[in-house]
Amino acid sequence: MKVVVIGGGIAGVAAATTAARRGSSVTILEGTGRLGLNRSLLPYVLSGGFPPEKVQVTEPNALSREFGVDVRLNDRALDVSSLSRSVRTENGRLDYDSLVLATGCQYLSDGPKGLSKQGVHLLRSPEDYLALSGSVAALSRPAVVGPAPLSLVVAQALSSSQRVRVFLGPRSLHRFSPGVGRMLVRAASAKDVELIDADADAVVGTRGAEAVLSSGRVYPCSGVVVLPKSCPSVPPSGCATGTYGGVLVDRWMRTSSKDIFAAGDCTETRMGSISLPSRLHSSSRVMGEVAGSNASGAAVRANLARSMALRIFGLEVCAAGVDIEEAARAGIDAVRVESECAARGDPSDGASVYASIVYDRPTRKVHGIQVAGPGALSLSEFCALAVASEMSLDQLAYHESPYLPSFNTDQSPIALTAGRALARVQERRVEAQGTHLRYR
Ligand SMILES: Cc1cc2nc3c(=O)[nH]c(=O)nc-3n(C[C@H](O)[C@H](O)[C@H](O)COP(=O)(O)OP(=O)(O)OC[C@H]3O[C@@H](n4cnc5c(N)ncnc54)[C@H](O)[C@@H]3O)c2cc1C
Repeated sequence: MKVVVIGGGIAGVAAATTAARRGSSVTILEGTGRLGLNRSLLPYVLSGGFPPEKVQVTEPNALSREFGVDVRLNDRALDVSSLSRSVRTENGRLDYDSLVLATGCQYLSDGPKGLSKQGVHLLRSPEDYLALSGSVAALSRPAVVGPAPLSLVVAQALSSSQRVRVFLGPRSLHRFSPGVGRMLVRAASAKDVELIDADADAVVGTRGAEAVLSSGRVYPCSGVVVLPKSCPSVPPSGCATGTYGGVLVDRWMRTSSKDIFAAGDCTETRMGSISLPSRLHSSSRVMGEVAGSNASGAAVRANLARSMALRIFGLEVCAAGVDIEEAARAGIDAVRVESECAARGDPSDGASVYASIVYDRPTRKVHGIQVAGPGALSLSEFCALAVASEMSLDQLAYHESPYLPSFNTDQSPIALTAGRALARVQERRVEAQGTHLRYR
């Protein structure tokens, strides 16, 4: 089987190695001179916590040597013809039996006014992160502009020696439930990071970036770090696209075109009446593995959860699935239940863990889980699996969670929260029955 993979990021490299392991003859096309860039490590380059050479997780030579993959760097795919099963590239034409699109995202040029001023750092490439890491010490009061969670990770990297303001936009921490959002604001404030839930309208100053204008207010600063917005980047291929312009894939990573699969940031998966992107490292990797397997003749299904895990401003946070707004947009009759429980750990320190669950009212199927607080990271894999396997509220409420004396509490915060949701459902049912009886 001749498999062509377009794009050499996390998803493309996972697809290429998986297809090669299954015995396919694999060619990977990468438009730049770099393969296997792990973008999630870029913010750690800023704080000096990660050497830049480690951000590239795959060596082109290793891919050829260990897996027999034909690696073509600096060879951009221009378009794909599913009729003739061929890819036109900058350097010629390539035939395939099956193809994997793994072309990621491209940055958009819109943003606040004044981005060309001196002292504005646009973070796109690894070189941009590296250049900023050299001048972090010169920023005495930087502003960060961009959505959470990435802007929070960048602010954390900058905040070790200075006060930082983050302009998150009006939907600010919308990715997180209100309780998790409040914990993040508190944790940020303790590290001298101010979170502002408004857009930056312009960067102003006579000698460079001296202030940010936002919602009619002026915020002085000594430099501005901008995380540009992005959108899916896909060469013309005839594949159907979704709500946000990404290639629509099913759980087998099949697109609408025969023998074309897709994986990673360039894709969207259906949820109810809309489709959603993931744009996360873990989703991209597993999508790549599934696309590579199926492109070489297998029939495996991806169990996606859109899961993330963060340790941010000292706070542990994990999230999987969708939030209530996304669920509502998808046409789901969604309910969110939240609760605060005693933290796992030393009960005497009074720390608490916050958990929230989004579920479908009629079926009680769980669509999203978030946990924040001490020990939250230890629950991240469970959250991902519970969402990916579409567990019900009842299963979550009565799942066994191993108990370790002097480490955790009797019940997991997820089970407690699900139990509270079930109790509420029960109360409503009793109330409804009471009303019914009264009216008879
Ligand atoms: C700064 C930053 C921090 C992040 N932090 C996290 C995190 O903490 N946790 C997390 O889960 N996720 C994080 N993410 C998201 C995660 O990194 C992405 O989801 C993941 O890298 C996507 O991988 P990909 O292979 O789909 O796309 P990409 O990594 O974008 O790779 C796509 C590749 O395709 C190539 N390409 C594009 N078009 C063509 C073409 N026509 N022909 C040939 N090649 C082409 C590109 O050059 C690129 O190399 C972060 C992202 C960024 C930018």
